[in-house]
Amino acid sequence: MSRNQQLFERSQEYIPGGVNSPVRAFKSVGGTPVFLQRGQGAYVLDADDKTYIDYVGSWGPLILGHAHPEVIEAVQAAARKGLTFGAPTEAELEIAELLCKLVPSIEQVRVVSSGTEATMSAIRLARGYTGRNRIVKFEGCYHGHDDALLVKAGSGALTFGHPSSAGVPVETASSTVVLDYNDLDGVEQAFSQFGEEIATVIVEPVAGNMNLIAPKPGFLQGLRELCTRHGSVLIFDEVMTGFRVGLECAQGLYGIKPDLTTLGKVIGGGMPMAAFGGRRDIMQCLAPVGAVYQAGTLSGNPVAVAAGLATLKLVQAPNFYEELASRTRQLTEGLAAAAEKHDIAFSAQSIGGMFGLYFRKNLPESYVEVMSCDRDAFNRFFHSMLKEGIYFAPSAFEAGFVSAAHGDAEISKTLLTAEKIFSAGN
Ligand code: PMP
Repeated sequence: MSRNQQLFERSQEYIPGGVNSPVRAFKSVGGTPVFLQRGQGAYVLDADDKTYIDYVGSWGPLILGHAHPEVIEAVQAAARKGLTFGAPTEAELEIAELLCKLVPSIEQVRVVSSGTEATMSAIRLARGYTGRNRIVKFEGCYHGHDDALLVKAGSGALTFGHPSSAGVPVETASSTVVLDYNDLDGVEQAFSQFGEEIATVIVEPVAGNMNLIAPKPGFLQGLRELCTRHGSVLIFDEVMTGFRVGLECAQGLYGIKPDLTTLGKVIGGGMPMAAFGGRRDIMQCLAPVGAVYQAGTLSGNPVAVAAGLATLKLVQAPNFYEELASRTRQLTEGLAAAAEKHDIAFSAQSIGGMFGLYFRKNLPESYVEVMSCDRDAFNRFFHSMLKEGIYFAPSAFEAGFVSAAHGDAEISKTLLTAEKIFSAGN
């Protein structure tokens, strides 16, 4: 038995399903998850000492690759000065100033410890600000595991075919209106039906939790206009897209200003950190200034903030995102070309440093279309690639990530391997 298998068996004894987050369990692709022991640049090493080119990057945070020396150095330096204070620090101010400077719509920001906390707090704030109850979300968008948002969610929830979760009170879920992504007519109808009851519309500006679905031209703009007209708060959940699709995040890329934005993943540089921020008048509703309560013992943790600051400094280098986007495109275009050559029903696309791979002929534009991908074909492809040392997300419904540490050598090796697998009929 391999060490991976041994560890997984032991883990299942002590940890539900052997994992601390469901999608890690390889349930949708089958087989034993790889236990990772270290990472360097674009590579990870598993418990059996096998090396992989990593296209998961801890599900998005590692935009600089694993163990970037400057990030590690910043973390070590911060740790030596103390792990947590529960009092304000200058570094927190620095990251707040930086986020306000870089993200077009953010005037004030609060730092928390996970994306789930960020979206949950943003929803509470939107409700507190508007005095309304209903929220609108889109099927297949995942915003963390807050009760109100765990309705027809994506990511692990989608993969397992339990779009909602047991344990979420019907009353909580019933104030969440779930609509189709990219269907503006549906949103208009919801507003004409519920009008002034809608506190907020929350959306992933590029959906990355049902594989990758790009917003259709006009969709985000339409949401902006409807929210403005009806006095509802527009939340862009940029936990995944923030500093992943560009330096100004998705809102800069598409030129739309949400009222609130949630961030996570990249801004923590691999440490537990996330944030929510936006319009000053809305953010001023938060305690201790306003009446909406939100707090955290480890919020703004100095070690996490240090990793975030070091990461955000490096992504501001000239051409960082142009190079990342072009490298990612090289991967998706190469995979699509290899599949076409061997007549495999496959398509792929990228936005900045994130990408989607689909075992269907055309790019999907909706939840229904993405659901029509050939899952068995994906699962075969996933395992064949894994065997050859290439680690994609273990589900047909997750986006993939390229880091600045992925160079020509890694992309070429990936494309050559895929070509070999496609030529054998996948
Ligand atoms: N929002 C989005 C768009 C996400 O992709 C995720 C996590 N994948 C979350 C929220 C939740 O973040 P976390 O896992 O840090 O709680």
